[in-house]
Amino acid sequence: MTTIPATRYETIIGLEVHVQLQTERKMFCDCSAAYADAPPNTHVCPVCMALPGVLPVINRKAIEYTVMTGLALNCQIPSFSKFDRKNYPYPDLLKGYQISQYDLPLTRDGWLEIELEGEAPRRVGITRVHLEEDTARLAHRTDQAGEAYSLIDMNRAGVPLMEIVSEPDMRSAEEARAYLVKLRQILRYIGVSKVNLEEGNFRCDANVSLRPVGAEEMGAKVEIKNMNSFRAVYNALRFEVDRQTRELDTGQRIPQETRGWVEDAGKTVSQRSKEEAHDYRYFPEPDLPPVTLTAEDVAAIRARLPELPDARLRRFEEAYGLGRYEANLLTESRARADYYEATVAAAREAGKDVVKYAREAANWIIGDFARLLNAADMDIGEAQLSPAHLYAMIALVEGGTISGPAAKQVFEEMFRTGKSPGDVVRELGLEQISGSDELAAVAERVIAANEKAAEDYRRGKQEALKFLVGQAMRESRGRANPATMTEILRARLEA
Ligand SMILES: [Zn+2]
Repeated sequence: MTTIPATRYETIIGLEVHVQLQTERKMFCDCSAAYADAPPNTHVCPVCMALPGVLPVINRKAIEYTVMTGLALNCQIPSFSKFDRKNYPYPDLLKGYQISQYDLPLTRDGWLEIELEGEAPRRVGITRVHLEEDTARLAHRTDQAGEAYSLIDMNRAGVPLMEIVSEPDMRSAEEARAYLVKLRQILRYIGVSKVNLEEGNFRCDANVSLRPVGAEEMGAKVEIKNMNSFRAVYNALRFEVDRQTRELDTGQRIPQETRGWVEDAGKTVSQRSKEEAHDYRYFPEPDLPPVTLTAEDVAAIRARLPELPDARLRRFEEAYGLGRYEANLLTESRARADYYEATVAAAREAGKDVVKYAREAANWIIGDFARLLNAADMDIGEAQLSPAHLYAMIALVEGGTISGPAAKQVFEEMFRTGKSPGDVVRELGLEQISGSDELAAVAERVIAANEKAAEDYRRGKQEALKFLVGQAMRESRGRANPATMTEILRARLEA
């Protein structure tokens, strides 16, 4: 009997990400775009409320931010671009159309590099980054009689919204997640968006289809919406790949459709089929001039781009002798990378061994510092502890003023109070004990209090010495130099 081998499928994923830009003003009017904590319908004017006869005016900053994003994603920046009307009837759009970009976006044809652990880096194509306006927000309610009704908040209407469309280049949910993490990192580095998913300024839709391995033709595209976190995108894609595999294996046809992710149920459900898809009847926005960008304009925007995460990571590895793991963590956010380099710069200015201090600073920042920040739910930029003080503390350890264990106490106190390491060491009395009389007294007390361990050591049990050193460190509140303490204890025990 022969068994028919199961068909193996290739997964094809493309992502569409909407990002609210962090501009002061809305896209086409002077209303403040910082509406997050505002009461409903307070950031409004005739333009964003779509009253008749008003005229939109382009927010220059939003254009710059979009071009900056395109450059960071290795895109082409055409010299000519325009806005178009995307027509659709929905209550969150009072105008009945959204001003967007159709055939001539501000940027196109770029790429972003992702790297999964243990795999070679891979480029995901960026089809385009275009600019549009956000819609109003609807709140669905039910009255006491059980009648459903909706409230509309116009604060979000007209906030600049960037759409980043990828090529269908991702082959797994893992790659999609890596793409989103990388994209968020870049957008935060260049400072164009807060990229806060909870506040809704980063939203993602995914297109996913399967085809038999080796097939050229694409399978039917299923679009997934309503994903509010990277975890949701990952889980929804995993679910959808499994679902489509099962359908195809049992000979079903996958219809082209839009599906919504239902977080609580952990599944996608059909929302609308292709037949119901909108015809947006795009046409050029008659109230806005086209956008023209000269080579000088683009060069000026490029000049304002900071060093991007990948370049910074490679430089950290080379200049500071860091491993990939450390360099990755240190460049995770621009604020953390800046803090790290400010600490290293302080060592360089003081004429110290840069690589040595760079290693120590890396250990502190990705170790104790990250732990304390995490516990306090703070970003490194909010910390009271300055890079200059971190450098000075490392210098105190290197110079022998404080021991390694005491440094941990000093560090926590500096983190808590923002005081200098010198002040903290004085206040807590943590200067390293280097006088041999004082250390000898500690050794005497520890041996007297731990006779059994002392006896064990004399009988050849080496671990007993470690235990005694630990006791001595505690007795001295971490002030003893561990190496010196070990030598003194050994000498006493073997005398
Ligand atoms: Zn307005």
